[in-house]
Amino acid sequence: MEKIALFPGSFDPITKGHESIIKRAIPLFDKIIIAIGENSEKKCYFSIEQRMNWIKKVFADCPNIEVEKYSGLTVEYCRENKIGYILRGLRTSADFEFERSIGQMNKKIYPAIETVFFLTTPEYTALNSSIVRDILRHGGDVKQFIPSEVDL
Ligand code: ADP
Repeated sequence: MEKIALFPGSFDPITKGHESIIKRAIPLFDKIIIAIGENSEKKCYFSIEQRMNWIKKVFADCPNIEVEKYSGLTVEYCRENKIGYILRGLRTSADFEFERSIGQMNKKIYPAIETVFFLTTPEYTALNSSIVRDILRHGGDVKQFIPSEVDL
């Protein structure tokens, strides 16, 4: 059976941290779907179209990567699309505690799912989209934190 993995997130915007995890996961799976979860309660800085376009540009040369959006429960999206793995990045112990409960609950809801965690490389441990947005709001330069294809 094809090994399909989902990398879910907001990607508001995609950072070099996300890019690094996805590139490290490519050799492990037949296909990776990068999917933006549409959450009506979460107000995003960039539009969903803009965020998807940037991700498509970053992975334009990777035939096994697809970019999608979804709403509702991540595990239900996996069940419907025959996705067996969820990829997540772990930066800190706080990430671990957060991800552990989600991962364990997801497994209860959909026992066939496996969550696969990647430890962040040290240079990206402090990087997150919310800091990038803060820098942008204050007119700072975020070039070193985002993939070169993202034309901010
Ligand atoms: P969410 O809305 O789920 O927090 P994000 O877009 O912030 O989505 O993150 C999606 C995934 O990318 C999460 O697993 C998160 O841990 C991971 N991630 C975010 N930033 C980094 C980083 N700097 N290094 C490694 N993984 C990261």
